[in-house]
Amino acid sequence: VSTEELLLSRIRDVADHPIPGVTFKDITPLLADPEAFAALTGALAELCVRYGATKIVGLEARGFILAAPVAVTAKLGFVPVRKAGKLPGATLSQAYELEYGTAEIEVHAEDLATGDRVMVIDDVLATGGTAEASLELIRRAGAEVAGVAVLMELGFLGGRARLEPALRGAPLDAL
Ligand code: 5GP
Repeated sequence: VSTEELLLSRIRDVADHPIPGVTFKDITPLLADPEAFAALTGALAELCVRYGATKIVGLEARGFILAAPVAVTAKLGFVPVRKAGKLPGATLSQAYELEYGTAEIEVHAEDLATGDRVMVIDDVLATGGTAEASLELIRRAGAEVAGVAVLMELGFLGGRARLEPALRGAPLDAL
């Protein structure tokens, strides 16, 4: 089987989670399968190398699980982008719109600098709001965006279109 088939076969649809009417893509079967997990992190690491990344940003929380082994494989540093209030040091914050209300993410200002080329890793691109806000943080820190790479893009939510202007030509890859 191809990598894509292997990965797809390890993603579970959970009906009505976290709220009625939403079908949640659960990646825990994939994480529990060493062959699939290695195939996923290997493919993501390859993209980071291809796009000349010098740092890896992981988006809380599932993005951390993927971005950490990707960073080790690609021999690059890992930088967490967290929900507001979690990081202990001096942070840059970025608020963004959700379907209902707003959310805020943060990064340690000292973790990103001018000259860095940053790859953003997450499990799922849904509406694109989280990834879009992370690109704002990266640029405000003075760093450059190498690209965004996710396991899966939920095309019907239009995340790619929302993210497009913020990408400024950088690649968005969904495995
Ligand atoms: P967005 O900001 O693109 O709407 O939402 C993306 C964030 O929500 C990602 O960090 C992702 O982990 C999470 N997310 C949204 N929908 C799903 C889903 O169906 N499955 C998983 N695993 N994560 C999701």
